[in-house]
Amino acid sequence: MTENALLDAVTVDADSGRPIPDAATGETIGFAPVQSVADLDEAVDAARAAQIEWARLGHEERSRVLRLAAEEIETHAEELAGVIAREQGKPLNGAGARFEAAGCAVWVRNAADTVIEPEVLFEAEGTRSEMHYVPLGVVAAIGPWNWPALIGIWQIAPALRMGNAVVVKPSSYTPLSVLAVVELMNRHLPDGLLAVVSGSREVGAAIARHPGIDKVMFTGSTETGREIVRSSAENLARLTLELGGNDPGIVLPGADARAIAESLFWGIFINTGQTCAALKRLYVHDSVHDAVVAELQALAESTPMGPGTGEENLLGPLTTPQQFEIVARLVDDARARGAKIVTGGEPAPELGAHFYRTTIVTDIEDGAALVDEEQFGPVIPVIRYSDLEDAIARANASEQGLGASVWGDPVQAREVAERIEAGTVWINQHGTLNPMVPFGGVKASGYGLEFGAHGLQAVAAPKVITV
Ligand code: NAD
Repeated sequence: MTENALLDAVTVDADSGRPIPDAATGETIGFAPVQSVADLDEAVDAARAAQIEWARLGHEERSRVLRLAAEEIETHAEELAGVIAREQGKPLNGAGARFEAAGCAVWVRNAADTVIEPEVLFEAEGTRSEMHYVPLGVVAAIGPWNWPALIGIWQIAPALRMGNAVVVKPSSYTPLSVLAVVELMNRHLPDGLLAVVSGSREVGAAIARHPGIDKVMFTGSTETGREIVRSSAENLARLTLELGGNDPGIVLPGADARAIAESLFWGIFINTGQTCAALKRLYVHDSVHDAVVAELQALAESTPMGPGTGEENLLGPLTTPQQFEIVARLVDDARARGAKIVTGGEPAPELGAHFYRTTIVTDIEDGAALVDEEQFGPVIPVIRYSDLEDAIARANASEQGLGASVWGDPVQAREVAERIEAGTVWINQHGTLNPMVPFGGVKASGYGLEFGAHGLQAVAAPKVITV
């Protein structure tokens, strides 16, 4: 037993489960069930059976139940935040674990409240054609470890609202956060409708090609996304793919370094950089380069980093040892190429095994791995430019296209934004998401939209009725 009743509710016995470490200390916080492909088959069968009645309830009743689930999440938000802060590592405060737990309730309520009406497509000479959005059946939700509960909810809530059942496969690094939020939802949902199958990548692969799955909502790396596309050749499952990002930010000539510094800093370092749509390459005009770097350095050196459970902390550990290795390798490579480490550039072992200091790297160009690859950690390469055309070309010279941002005069920024290849371009902000505004990537960052009415349509089958 721990002090967290929600954690106790989802953890299984030590002899049947897999130990899950605290991301900051390595201490075991609980045990996740070890489930197999046979468990998956059972969950899919139960989901399929439960979905029929759930679909029949209609929008109003389903939304009523989802609002109860949102309230349940709000009531237990502090316990949920406690699980996330330990398992994933993000600090309770700032845009951290409490923000993630609160966001789960916001997104569930939003899925319940978003209006979706049949569209009249054609009406003339006694003929009328309407587009309706009907349930697909069973939706699989496969998620990553960086925002485990919130991203899970992004996939689950709209799918339920539209009359589907959902089988969730959490990342094997963060199953407890997902089990916890699903436990809260399931206090109000019919049995079998929403299930978690906590297993290895093998279970992930099996779910993606399962004949009982009608749609896969996948959020994770581009590499795994490609495997899911291949699997979908088997079951013809519809796909929404939210994949990796290497979001560029462009700071325009004349930008006020002090005014943009804080938003810029958190656009980069939200969740210690472990965010799909975090700013990952920063192009700064020569005229403001040094001022912007100085502002970022001051924030990097004054923003407290430590275990997620520490109330004072705003930055945390890397969640997994593998991610820590990636970050260290990219910074070492940049240093070896002659880049300048303005601050950080090394692990912070006094904080724990997987902490890496907030790092700002300058004197670096495209072609360096730190610029070209997704670092997914507390490190930003700052690339100096003098020709805006050149900066736009470099921003677009990536296979990824999730988000991007432009900083400075809003009128000029808008012109630049129109030329950037990304699913979302923010102006004087980066990575802010809104449950009513669709979000999704282009190019190798995936396809399909989440959130708002577009997000609901994406977990439904379009059906035309012509009278
Ligand atoms: P990952 O691709 O390694 O794993 C994601 C999930 O897929 C896990 O649950 C994993 O167990 C499962 N999986 C692995 N192999 C599978 C297979 N063959 N078939 C089906 N499922 C399989 O990603 P990760 O390391 O957990 O997450 C980090 C990545 O996710 C980063 O690239 C990040 O940019 C991306 N991400 C994208 C978004 C977005 O909205 N676009 C959001 C968060 C994270």
